[in-house]
Amino acid sequence: MSLPFDRLAVLGAGTMGHGIAYAAAAGGFETRVYDVSRAALARGQEGVASLLEREVARERLDRAQANAMRARLGWTTDLGEAVDGAGGVIEAVPEQMALKLDLWARVDRLASREALLATNTSALSISEMAAALASPARLVGMHFFNPVPRMRLVEIVRTHDTPEAIVTSAAAVASAMGKESVVVLESPGFVTTRVNALIGNEAFYMLAEGIASARDIDTALKLGLNHPMGPFELVDLVGLDTRLAVLQHLHERLGEKYRPCPLLVEY
Ligand code: NAD
Repeated sequence: MSLPFDRLAVLGAGTMGHGIAYAAAAGGFETRVYDVSRAALARGQEGVASLLEREVARERLDRAQANAMRARLGWTTDLGEAVDGAGGVIEAVPEQMALKLDLWARVDRLASREALLATNTSALSISEMAAALASPARLVGMHFFNPVPRMRLVEIVRTHDTPEAIVTSAAAVASAMGKESVVVLESPGFVTTRVNALIGNEAFYMLAEGIASARDIDTALKLGLNHPMGPFELVDLVGLDTRLAVLQHLHERLGEKYRPCPLLVEY
């Protein structure tokens, strides 16, 4: 597959950053991963190495392919080095607006004027974050899912001002990484988080009302509706705090329908 450009920078080497870096290297991008923490870079690098070993053990990659992927990845605490010559920058640092604004202002001074600028935010406003850039319409959301190497979707989040060429470029990057993409207009929770929050909240209401046990609600959704995981299994994975924070955010922005179930708040 032809790549829209050769080189990507991934900002943040954490849960999402190292997964995005893995997918980028698998897609053929020369990828530089930037993090403020050397320990996080080392963990990210180890994470990628163990993913590669697993793929080799399962014979989904041969040793030469794994080595080639590893060679495409560089790890650095120098932001300038990471974005230098990059055709695209994907940011995956913690979900704090002030931190992201500061980082994007620095990227704006260092990155090429033509580079694709994408944030992996789960819920923050793209427009608000884009205020850090000289040309705010450049910033697009690329919402990857955890674990990135296995999850096939990327939600491309655009605003009313996003040029079509930027949406196309983000879709081409996702496709090169082997992902399907959908285009979503900026709105709280995009498509997936919004639907998922409602299902998760409803599951807590059913538990509180004594309709069924957590285990049976999980089984019902898995076997009856073909969900790969039950809502309680999922909340164990993402954490009760995260689930509550997402619902509170959606409740604030979208109204009563998203008011967190009292049992979830209690837990
Ligand atoms: P994480 O905490 O695992 O990783 C964040 C990394 O960013 C850490 O390695 C940290 O050292 C680094 N960092 C902190 N400040 C930095 C800075 N100023 N510059 C560079 N690096 C910095 O977080 P995560 O779970 O990977 O989440 C990253 C983003 O992805 C968030 O916006 C989150 O909302 C989003 N997201 C997370 C998930 C998920 O399931 N974890 C899913 C989709 C989207």
